[in-house]
Amino acid sequence: MPDTSLMDKIVSLCKRRGFIFQSSEIYGGLGSVWDYGPLGAELKRNVKNRWWKSVVQERMDMVGLDCAILMHPQVWKASGHVDGFADPLVDCKECKKRFRQDNLTDTKDPDIRQCPSCGAKIDLKTSPARMFNLMMKTSLGAVEDASAVTYLRPETAQGIFVNFLNILDTTRKKLPFGVAQIGKSFRNEITPGNYTFRTREFEQMEIEYFVKPEEDDKWYEFWINERFDWYIRYGINKENLRIRPHAKDELAHYARACSDIEYKFPFGWSELEGIANRGDFDLKQHSQFSGKDLSYFDAGENKRYMPHIIEPSGGVDRAILAFLVDAYHEELVKDETRVVLRFSKELAPIKVAILPLLKNRPELVGMAKDIAEGLKKDINLVYDDTAAIGKLYRRQDEIGTLYCVTVDVQSLEDKKVTVRDRDTMLQDRIDVTQLKEYLINKIS
Ligand code: ATP
Repeated sequence: MPDTSLMDKIVSLCKRRGFIFQSSEIYGGLGSVWDYGPLGAELKRNVKNRWWKSVVQERMDMVGLDCAILMHPQVWKASGHVDGFADPLVDCKECKKRFRQDNLTDTKDPDIRQCPSCGAKIDLKTSPARMFNLMMKTSLGAVEDASAVTYLRPETAQGIFVNFLNILDTTRKKLPFGVAQIGKSFRNEITPGNYTFRTREFEQMEIEYFVKPEEDDKWYEFWINERFDWYIRYGINKENLRIRPHAKDELAHYARACSDIEYKFPFGWSELEGIANRGDFDLKQHSQFSGKDLSYFDAGENKRYMPHIIEPSGGVDRAILAFLVDAYHEELVKDETRVVLRFSKELAPIKVAILPLLKNRPELVGMAKDIAEGLKKDINLVYDDTAAIGKLYRRQDEIGTLYCVTVDVQSLEDKKVTVRDRDTMLQDRIDVTQLKEYLINKIS
């Protein structure tokens, strides 16, 4: 059963605390487009930085890339997106809504389908499906003629393929090696929804890993395991993750094999990331369409061939949603419900909160602000004196802050502060001169 109440709680927390806002809210909002607020921006940055660190900086066989969103329109012909990146759409004459044909319910008659929301029957003989391309069109330059038409990229991958020769020439990498990229992608999704899970503008974290043709199975398995473990390393409970290999009839035309890493969202198991064995499809296509030879010269074997490609392709926004859902906990503390986001220390948007016990005592406020000033260059922290301490703790628990440092009256005398751990709620009394080292040890 989908747990809609959990989803509602997360959506409400994200709005209330400043993780995620609806786009253009003061104008009534723009459907299925979302903005990351102050805490969401920190969380997103942490997710992307950890991905980049794991797949680029900690590996000798990977390099990074950052391509433009706009590309030559021929790219999308070569990739197959102009002709193939489309869904069949059917109009319902009763409710005037448009549906994806595969979302309608079958009936005994293969030509008749039933609408999910209004219940009307649709006859595909009189209302045939029309293909709808998911790419967003735009035009470059001042004149809106057909020659200026291009698209907002629907995936970041193509930027890597078309730069293959540049990367080989400048890095002198030998197979196997990979290229990683993070960036925005756009798809005119027909049925967006489930909060930030399926949107029309989103961010991807993609790797194209180039291998010798005979080694593709090995690297395909390697990347499935590597990416599965990454989600666990940054806080996802293993029970909530699974690998789902695609059936043969589900595979995209270019893929030799594909597996999804799925997360158990409150609305059901859904794809976080796909790992595909793309064979030599992409380099062959771009060689053919561009007229440039994108093959690889293997000096060891003294021969030329097309490398095969393993593609782990994940969504930043889906990863964030999974980290949020998995971090969300409610627990009973002294008859009160404590809501706490148990983010890993790497992903927590705020690491430390500095809180004076009493806001109307200038000496306490002064000491707390001095402590914050002294730490802010090394630790991502907040200072807050806008409520009583109990409320301040609850606020920090709800946003997943790892440690709360409280300055009390005693602190003025003994120059010690109380450090409270988010998860255990245990408190340590720490000398102010030792505080930076203590906190840095805990959070790094
Ligand atoms: P789905 O089947 O859910 O539409 P897909 O198989 O089309 O996804 P891919 O083309 O493999 O997705 O894209 C790779 C990743 O990009 C997905 O695993 C997902 O994390 C992310 N992604 C794709 N489409 C969207 C979207 N509309 N909104 C948010 N993230 C997306």
